[in-house]
Order: sequence, then structure tokens, then C-alpha cells
Amino acid sequence: MSLSALPLRSLDAAGWLSAARRLPSPNCDARPEGAAIELIVLHNISLPPGVFDGDAVIDLFTNQLDWDAHPYYQEIRGIKVSAHFFIRRDGTLIQFVPCSLRAWHAGISSWCERERCNDFSIGIELEGTDDLPFTEAQYASLLPLLQSLKQAYPIRAVVGHSDIAAGRKTDPGICFDWERVRRLEA
Ligand SMILES: [Zn+2]
Repeated sequence: MSLSALPLRSLDAAGWLSAARRLPSPNCDARPEGAAIELIVLHNISLPPGVFDGDAVIDLFTNQLDWDAHPYYQEIRGIKVSAHFFIRRDGTLIQFVPCSLRAWHAGISSWCERERCNDFSIGIELEGTDDLPFTEAQYASLLPLLQSLKQAYPIRAVVGHSDIAAGRKTDPGICFDWERVRRLEA
């Protein structure tokens, strides 16, 4: 896909993307005073892991997950997390947190010797696992999203969660096609 073929999508002043389905999450707060948005962090998630046909991720990010609905949920019971964006297997783009606010996606993290990456990053979750290829529909949503974010904010890098939380996190995983992201930057 050439760069010029990517449809650009507009963000409003708060950082809501017009093209995304909006499902506000309470799991966010203000960025530190003066913090610029300089980093995009890519993740993967599925709940239960490897299951793609329910709304458990949406429920998790909006604090509506039934912790007793699956044994795996005991491992994460009570956590409060979010991401700015979630891209489902069919390419559907959902936004939980406006970009002007801090979503809770990176946890303990460090990029270029700066800690607390949530302060200055945008988090994008791809529905998936570390060892399954992502879908064409997901890349077709992700790449224009990255373009839009780069137009709107002084983004310096697109990294994986594993790059900023090495030894603790492995996502988006070995199947993520970084070459497609690099081509955007060329
Ligand atoms: Zn992650």
C-alpha cells in the first residue's frame, strides 16, 4: 500500500478519532503538565488468550468484565487497564481514551531512559496473541491510524510493548510485521 493511498482520519481537539467507534474507559487520567505525545506503543491482547469472538477485552477496558466468567480471569482479577485504541481481528477500530489523556497500557516501562511511558505515549492494542499472524484487516486499520497520529502529534517512534518493558512483556510478538511500519516511515 503506498502512503498516498492511506485515507487520513481526523482527530478532534481532545484526541478522539472520528473514524473509531467510541467506548470511553474510566481507566485514564491527565498526562503530566507539558507532556508531549512522542511515542506509539503496540500491544496484543485477547481474552481469554487466543479467543477472538467475544467482547471480554472491551469489558476489561471499561471495568465491566465478569471475573468469574473464565478461570484465566482470576490471574488478572481487579486490574484496571486501558489503551487508547483496540483493533479487532476484522479491522474494527475502537477508541477508549482520547489521546490528550493518559491511558493505562504500558505499566512499568522505559524508553530512551525515560520511565513511565504512559505519560508520553499512545497505546494501540491489536486483538491477537504473540504467535499468530495479525490479519490484513488489522494492518489496513493500523497503518492509516499511525499516519493520522503522526500527523497530529510529534511522534518520534513506534515501538512494541516488549521494547519498553523487556523481560516483562513480549507483545506484540514475533508475528507482528514491523516492515509495514518501517515502510510508513520511509
Ligand atoms: Zn502490552
